[in-house]
Amino acid sequence: MRKGVMRPGHVQIRVLDIEEALKHYRDLLGLIEVERDTQGRVYLKAWTEIDKFSVVLREADHPGMDLMGFKVLNNEVLEQLEADLIAYGCEVEHIAAGELNGCGRRIRFVAPTGHHFELFAEKEQPGKWGVSKVNPEAWPRDLKGMKATRFDHCLLYGPNIEETYALFRDVLGFDLAEQVVDPEQNRVAVFLTVGMKAHDVAFIDCPEPDKFHHASFYLETWESVLRAADLISMTETPIDIGPTRHGLTHGQTIYFFDPSGNRNEVFCGGDYHYPDHEAVTWKAEDLGKAIFYHDRVLNERFLSVLT
Ligand code: FE
Repeated sequence: MRKGVMRPGHVQIRVLDIEEALKHYRDLLGLIEVERDTQGRVYLKAWTEIDKFSVVLREADHPGMDLMGFKVLNNEVLEQLEADLIAYGCEVEHIAAGELNGCGRRIRFVAPTGHHFELFAEKEQPGKWGVSKVNPEAWPRDLKGMKATRFDHCLLYGPNIEETYALFRDVLGFDLAEQVVDPEQNRVAVFLTVGMKAHDVAFIDCPEPDKFHHASFYLETWESVLRAADLISMTETPIDIGPTRHGLTHGQTIYFFDPSGNRNEVFCGGDYHYPDHEAVTWKAEDLGKAIFYHDRVLNERFLSVLT
């Protein structure tokens, strides 16, 4: 049952060199550079997003994901979810309004997979970038690179998949859209959504906690995924796989790496989900086809290259 969590709001990614990272996230992915804060973090957004930012880059000595934040409907929902998290046995941390520029207070907790998540209700809302709020044109003409339209989801690796699914389902109101089960019927991957999208966050079982597989950005068409592949080659950007299709969610996708080794995805299409949909199941023994529908085999990097 939905609990008032609306959507992924932001992801904070660690990068080794902020200027190199900007060439990637701004000039190649086509995110809009919004501003920098006093800590040197850089804020970016995709052009269709109405909130101030969705990606925060933080320079650090090792790559990976610091945290992923979800926006909730309003402050009453935020207070209720905080109480529910505490009642469920989660430790919550209060992050003051303004710690991220333009973002209201955040409630942070650690999932059983070891990842840091946060909930917030308020963020400055300047509207879509480059188009008017009244009579908006179809798209801004000065977008760069892949012209990413929105931050869509993260795929995260860690232990305790079942406990993490239970937390996201029972406390935060996520639905299980898709799952991968092993021959003993244990879930080894869960794809979770709070809306109609195929997934807002997904987890794959892995003994090591708090690992980052990819942050994903939505493109409009298959042709724009192909064009992204061309740009990846033009810029000598390390590629992981694609363009191809996923079996899970059926999105049309390409994976590549930022200069720090963090994996990114851009994709289009994909299945939709309503609350009465039964979860789609893939068998773990067919994981190759589930992940890379055409090749039907996993490349080694998919399971081993994490940040
Ligand atoms: Fe993905």
